[in-house]
Amino acid sequence: DWADLNDIVGAAVERTGRLARDHTIKVDIDPGVLLLCVDPVLMEQVFFNLLDNACKYAPPGTVVKVWARRTPNYVTIEVIDQGPGIPPEASEKVFDMFYRVDHGDSKAAGTGLGLAICRGIVEAHGGTIKAEPGLNGAGAAIVIHLPQSHDIDGLAARISADAEPEGT
Ligand code: ATP
Ligand code: MG
Repeated sequence: DWADLNDIVGAAVERTGRLARDHTIKVDIDPGVLLLCVDPVLMEQVFFNLLDNACKYAPPGTVVKVWARRTPNYVTIEVIDQGPGIPPEASEKVFDMFYRVDHGDSKAAGTGLGLAICRGIVEAHGGTIKAEPGLNGAGAAIVIHLPQSHDIDGLAARISADAEPEGT
């Protein structure tokens, strides 16, 4: 289905609720990325898991950014935080089920499933997801690439034309 990335991210942000009360979540989605061919419910789960992690592992008062841009064949979406980051040697393992990094913070409870679920959903859409260092090498950036080779602008125009009442 065609879904609006702003709606998906907005719903995920709303779902983080009080989890995110100590963080500032900034959403920077390029207007060219409005429509995505994704399952909106599953993709909301991806962003919820990523925002949940960012708010769980990054200290209070820091900024969490959701950023999205489009190239002709791909959409790139990143969730970037200012926390401890993911060590390079763990950047693949964190996507394994039940794998957890010890950040020395016993309060950050979890099962170790969140990122494994994200990878399953993104790969089901033909995309990739990886963990990288955040801005200036600090914090974590989870980078998603989704293939979007369709003529999204043309499709958006057709959808809005279809939405016109008959006879207009
Ligand atoms: P769950 O999501 O199932 O509640 P979890 O958060 O531990 O538990 P994942 O979301 O799969 O599991 O993350 C795996 C591990 O990767 C985490 O335990 C954490 O150590 C590390 N990690 C994930 N996201 C971040 C992040 N934004 N910053 C630092 N470490 C992270
Ligand atoms: Mg998690």
